[in-house]
Amino acid sequence: MNWTFPAGRLFGISLRVHWILPISIAIYYAQAVSRSGIWGLEWMTVTTLIYLVSVLIHELAHCWMAIGLGGHAEQIVLWPLGGLSFVHHSGAPRDQIKVSVVGPLADLLIAAAAAGILLLTHAPWSWDYLNPFGEWWPYPLTTAQGFVLHALKLNLIIGLFQLCVPAYPLDGGQMLVAWLTLRYGRQRAAVVNSFIAFPIGGALAVWGFAIGDFFLGLIGVWVLFEAYQIRQLARWGDLDAHPAFAQTPEFDYMPDREKPRRKGWLARWRERRHERARAREAQGAAALREEVDAILDKVSRVGLGGLTAHEKRILDEASKRSRGEP
Ligand SMILES: [Zn+2]
Repeated sequence: MNWTFPAGRLFGISLRVHWILPISIAIYYAQAVSRSGIWGLEWMTVTTLIYLVSVLIHELAHCWMAIGLGGHAEQIVLWPLGGLSFVHHSGAPRDQIKVSVVGPLADLLIAAAAAGILLLTHAPWSWDYLNPFGEWWPYPLTTAQGFVLHALKLNLIIGLFQLCVPAYPLDGGQMLVAWLTLRYGRQRAAVVNSFIAFPIGGALAVWGFAIGDFFLGLIGVWVLFEAYQIRQLARWGDLDAHPAFAQTPEFDYMPDREKPRRKGWLARWRERRHERARAREAQGAAALREEVDAILDKVSRVGLGGLTAHEKRILDEASKRSRGEP
């Protein structure tokens, strides 16, 4: 990947860092120190560590799941918008969903562990700890507990954001693309993804830049760019060129079209009613036939004159029916 430098290996996986990451960390350091002096330095060091470790655990979860499914992990790249893991696996949408979901789950696990530490160290509990939009530090906590709370909130926000925003290339979006591919085939999955991702990307970009969260705005732009690219490749019939679809060319079909449509409840109720009516009619006809047989038997024994008025009426009715009269 361009603009990155190697930063060693982690559990056998090559780690690279994008140049913009240290530059933006340096800018944040300068801002924090000029605002709060030594405390700013301390704060930046601990929060940067929390951030980097959290991102690495998230990416390692993706890598380990891919390896566990028989694939392999090529490298992890750290950049200002988080991490990117380059993994290969069977390419089956089901495997992609598993690889994508474990990243945000790892974040939520770290958040739960941080909440556990706060409870175990007798921090006065507040439900606001779990509110991503709440204050990050006005609580009566020790400095160490304050940093644990920081880890809790950061991982809760990243985990929920990655899991719940269904826009590629966020993890939730990758899961959506895989699910759509499984259900509707590759081509339709690409088109539907773009329909969903365009408004989400636009909203994130506008909102991010409006509230001054530069990186959220950039994530919005990134989502827009990917949605546009996928839409174009789908139009040109060239989805093999995109990493989200390249591994699944066997899903070039629309399984939905071939499935017979299930009948609605009204149609099923009508069908059942007709069946019951037909059964009743058949029963009535069988009963009549039996009666007629018995009467004809009597005629052969005692002659027509021996029949009662009721028996004559039944014969009459049976002969009408056999001629098709009502
Ligand atoms: Zn992820």
